[in-house]
Amino acid sequence: MPAVRKIIAIVNQKGGVGKSTTAINLAAYLAGKGERILVVDMDPQGNATSGLGASPGSGGCMYDVLLEGKPLQDVAVKTEIEGLDVAPATINLVGAEVELVSSLAREFKLKRALERPSSYDRVLLDCPPSLDLLTLNALTAADEVLIPIQCEYYALEGLTQLMQSIRMVREELNPGLEVGGVLLTMFDPRTNLAHQVADEVRSFFGDRVFHTIVPRNVRLSEAPSFGMPVALYAPKSTGAEAYSAVADEVVSRG
Ligand code: ADP
Ligand code: MG
Repeated sequence: MPAVRKIIAIVNQKGGVGKSTTAINLAAYLAGKGERILVVDMDPQGNATSGLGASPGSGGCMYDVLLEGKPLQDVAVKTEIEGLDVAPATINLVGAEVELVSSLAREFKLKRALERPSSYDRVLLDCPPSLDLLTLNALTAADEVLIPIQCEYYALEGLTQLMQSIRMVREELNPGLEVGGVLLTMFDPRTNLAHQVADEVRSFFGDRVFHTIVPRNVRLSEAPSFGMPVALYAPKSTGAEAYSAVADEVVSRG
C-alpha cells in the first residue's frame, strides 16, 4: 500500500474563520466523489471530530499518535459518510503541545505518522487557531496549505505573519510546501466590506483564490451541533452548494 496521495493543511492562526467548517464539509464532498478521505483533527477543541459526529474510540486520539507514536490507523474512526474517517482530537492535545516542546524532531511527528502505508487518497489537517507546534507539525507534513479567510473586518490582519511562517517552514522543514488555495468564507454579498475584502484577497493571492466563495449560511453553522456535514444535514442549502463546488475545484486542481 502506498502512502497518502495528497495532504492538505487547513491553516489560519485566527479563530473562527471557517477552518473546521471547511475541513468537515470539503472532506464530506470529496468522500462523496469516491475518494478515501481522512480528516486529522489537530485542534484540542476537537470541532472537526464532533462536527463529523465522531468521538475517540478505544484506539485513542491524536495525542497518542504525536506523543506515543501510535499508527494513525489505530486511532482513526469511521463517520456516517462512506469513505470518510477522522483521527479524533481531545483536550489531551493541549498537553501534547506542551510535551512536544522537549521532544526530538518535534515538528516531524505527524509527518512520520503519515508516511506509513495507508489507503487514503487525501488527508485534510484541521489546525488550531495559532501558529503553535501542532500547526507546525501540520505544515511540515503537508503538501499544500489551504487558507480560509473570513470576509470580515481585520480579515487580512495576520496574513503577513502566516505567510512568513509558511516561508520559514519551507526553508527549514518542508521545502515542497505550497499554498494550494485561499478560500473566502462567510461572505455576505449585501455588505460593501465583504466585496472589498474579497477584492483585496484576490489582488494579494491572485489565481490561488478559489473561484467559489462560501456564503454566510445558517445551515453551515447548525450542522455541527447535529454532528453532520452539511451534505447530510441540508444538502440543498447555499452552504452545501458552495462546499460541493469547492470540492470540485480541489479535484480539478489535482
Ligand atoms: P475555525 O475552525 O477557523 O475556528 P469554524 O469553522 O469553527 O472556524 O467557524 C467558526 C464559527 O462560524 C462556527 O460556529 C461555524 O459553525 C460558523 N461558520 C463557519 N462558516 C460559516 C458560514 N459560511 N456561514 C455561517 N456560519 C459559519
Ligand atoms: Mg476550528
